[in-house]
Amino acid sequence: MPLTVYNTLTKKKEPFEPVTAGQVGIYLCGPTVYKPSHIGHAVGPIVFDAIKRYLVHKGFRVKLVINITDVDDKLIKEAAEQNVPMAELAERVTQSYFASLDALGVRSVDEFPRATGNIGRIIELIERLMAKGAAYAADGDVYFDHTQAKDYGKLSGRNIDESLAGTRELAGRARHAADFALWKASKEGEPAWNSPWGEGRPGWHIECSAMSMAILGETFDIHGGGMDLIFPHHENEIAQSETATGRTFAKYWLHNGLTRIRTKAASGQWEDEKMSKSLGNIRPIAELLETYTGETIRTFVLSTHYRRPLDFSDEQLANTEKALAGFYRLFERVQRITGENAYTPGQLIQRLHVEASNDAQKAFVAEVLNARLALYKSMDDDFNTAGAIASLHDLAGLIHRYIDTHRLEGDASQTDRDILAAAGRGLVANGQILGLFEAPPRQPSRGGGLEGRLMDLLIDLRAEARRRKDFATADQIRNRLAEINVMLEDTSGGTIWRRG
Ligand SMILES: [Zn+2]
Repeated sequence: MPLTVYNTLTKKKEPFEPVTAGQVGIYLCGPTVYKPSHIGHAVGPIVFDAIKRYLVHKGFRVKLVINITDVDDKLIKEAAEQNVPMAELAERVTQSYFASLDALGVRSVDEFPRATGNIGRIIELIERLMAKGAAYAADGDVYFDHTQAKDYGKLSGRNIDESLAGTRELAGRARHAADFALWKASKEGEPAWNSPWGEGRPGWHIECSAMSMAILGETFDIHGGGMDLIFPHHENEIAQSETATGRTFAKYWLHNGLTRIRTKAASGQWEDEKMSKSLGNIRPIAELLETYTGETIRTFVLSTHYRRPLDFSDEQLANTEKALAGFYRLFERVQRITGENAYTPGQLIQRLHVEASNDAQKAFVAEVLNARLALYKSMDDDFNTAGAIASLHDLAGLIHRYIDTHRLEGDASQTDRDILAAAGRGLVANGQILGLFEAPPRQPSRGGGLEGRLMDLLIDLRAEARRRKDFATADQIRNRLAEINVMLEDTSGGTIWRRG
């Protein structure tokens, strides 16, 4: 079945055909790094990390880029309030964003370009627009002239009048309310870079156009972001990029739904509200990770199709946690019977089709294969991760039933053990396409605060060292911890620690 994606630009599902056969470039708008990241910032990266993993699984070579907006009005204001240099605040928030993404299993991102690292490219793009007569300077600012863009409004479907109705005032020294800033003259004491128009800083929209085209080419495959970015941010990115190059900017526009907080009103009714800073209902990811594992949060996000709004509540996270615990119990059960760890990649179940010796085994193998294919079918349908996760549950249910029906916990033939081990590994392999079940689960650092997180870090470093066969470092971590009376124990469910 061919992969289809819903394209915001054409407002329909289309067959996915990359610009260059076999190769996919994806650009996702990242955060403005002025406040700790909240769950809403993680949705896009989790979704597009899963999308990239699936495309890689399908055989594409994929480059995924997420930008970091590290110069911006909000950032300047926040740095002034905290009385720290803007660059210092931006770096601190960026590092905590990276740590959160890592904990959430977002590990497939190829580049995180920063606006401040690309000022030269941004200026070049503005000069290109100036040379075409599509931009004008006014007292050190530079604006894009919206009348020079062909089809302005084609992404959001708004016309200029609708876009402006009662909402927007003239930006700075712009000639028209639909014109937007490409470059902003800096005020006294603000961060500034030299430009042909005097000292200043780039506007937000031009940053994404310059960095995406520099890394992925003037025409690339997928541009992603939250639905709240369709207008004006993405509309403006298209206008300035396509005016500069005369070519299509991004072929497919994929937008994820916004995160809503679910709260119970006094009446007992559930109410949804959009998560936003002004509502004061923000939960930083770092705080959530003290209670829930990254795998729980990731699974929760992927359990809703990316275009739908994500209803966030502790109840939902707790449900997801229970559902994941069901998978972990199944993996343990399979291991008890087969003696094999499902997390070790192994032979494909296809081969077992031939080895199945009776009808029940043959039927089970066929059912397992179908359940595995169901994941690909869901993902081919506009990356329906919700359907994909449902297929993982179906597969787990099949395995449990097979064990129960044939009482394999007491006594299992070698063929049954082989089939069961392969089915368990198949479930893990399918989960891994979504970035789940990458490693045996470990105790969340629940209530452990900083201590728990530091232990998680050391356990991860030791596991990494062992994967590199750097046993000296792995042993050193274990021994040094023992010296301070912290014991590590490797169990089938992962490494745990306790005070000695
Ligand atoms: Zn952007």
